[in-house]
Amino acid sequence: MRPPEHVVRALRALPGPACAYVYDTAALRERAASVRQSLPVAASLLYAVKANGHPSVLDTLARACDGLEVASGGELALALRAGARRIVFGGPAKTDAELAAALDAGAQINAESIHELHRIAALRPGAEVVLRVNRAGAALTGSHSMTGAPTPFGVDEAQLGQALAVPGVRIIGFHLHAVSNNLDGRAHAAFVREALRWSVATGIDPRVVNVGGGFGVDYLGDAAIDLNPLRAIDVPRGIDLIFEPGRYLAADAGWYAATVLDVKTTHGRTFAVLRGGTHHFRLPAAWGYDHPFTVVPVDDWPHPYPRPAAFDTPVDAVGELCTPRDVLCRGRHVRRVRAGDLLVFGRTGAYGWDISHHDFLRHDPPQFVIL
Ligand SMILES: *Cc1c(COP(=O)(O)O)cnc(C)c1O
Repeated sequence: MRPPEHVVRALRALPGPACAYVYDTAALRERAASVRQSLPVAASLLYAVKANGHPSVLDTLARACDGLEVASGGELALALRAGARRIVFGGPAKTDAELAAALDAGAQINAESIHELHRIAALRPGAEVVLRVNRAGAALTGSHSMTGAPTPFGVDEAQLGQALAVPGVRIIGFHLHAVSNNLDGRAHAAFVREALRWSVATGIDPRVVNVGGGFGVDYLGDAAIDLNPLRAIDVPRGIDLIFEPGRYLAADAGWYAATVLDVKTTHGRTFAVLRGGTHHFRLPAAWGYDHPFTVVPVDDWPHPYPRPAAFDTPVDAVGELCTPRDVLCRGRHVRRVRAGDLLVFGRTGAYGWDISHHDFLRHDPPQFVIL
């Protein structure tokens, strides 16, 4: 993915050595609009804050979507500050203080256990809640399956009767988030249809069916999930069908870039050493893949000494941390890379900065450039 010209311009304007995340709010708005076009007309579209909680991203997506999905008291506070019209609060480890704050804010709570239902009933007798269910056999393929397998999320289908019998709360629907990074739109549509059928078949007359997020992004190539099969889903009257993607809304609107500080070859392998690394962008290290990059040439070289460079060779893009695991990409062929050039990593707007170990080695954080 080559960065678009306006992103390159913004990167070239940074003082060197540069290290930055660029978030393109127009790209966020366009993506949200295109997702909405693909969803059933009456469906609700929320943005899952955990993918990228930068205030400018939240301000943009709180407006471009129907609201925000949060999974902690910290995210709840951010969503309120962003003026979200609607907030859904999930997560398996909510404290009483977080539950109370969410109830006070009028958020819809996705309860994750029978114990949590009891706690909500004690905090706010008569509260309406959505129950997260870990269904058997509802798995979708993607990077992380969260349903149909043992996980800390939701209650088993077999516990449904017990959950519905908890006094003092009213279960008004189900939360069935099942997968992350699914690239198969037809399979996703089949999963949503089945989620609706199952929810209606419980006999509770559900008002809410939340099918979570999980629309995928192809980090290694240009495959794209086709969301159009979702459009034709028949939503039974009276049901608020909620989608809450994170990755798909934010990934393509973010660019991570860092100046090459050194280029060197040791034991036959060539390294481009960056003013940045996995403490800013941990995803490739966490998932064990090589995140592609583009070399943006910077011709300026004001120094009297030779400029390190490598030509027509595979290069490992490595970071500034003192560990051999600080690798963003191994063995990517480059025509030329020199100290002082910029490496730009596309599709880094989701699960980039937010999931990384910022304080390891205490280097300066990246700049955040909002377009
Ligand atoms: C993480 C998460 C999402 C967003 O998932 P994506 O894969 O980023 O779309 C949505 N809902 C819940 C409950 C989640 O935990």
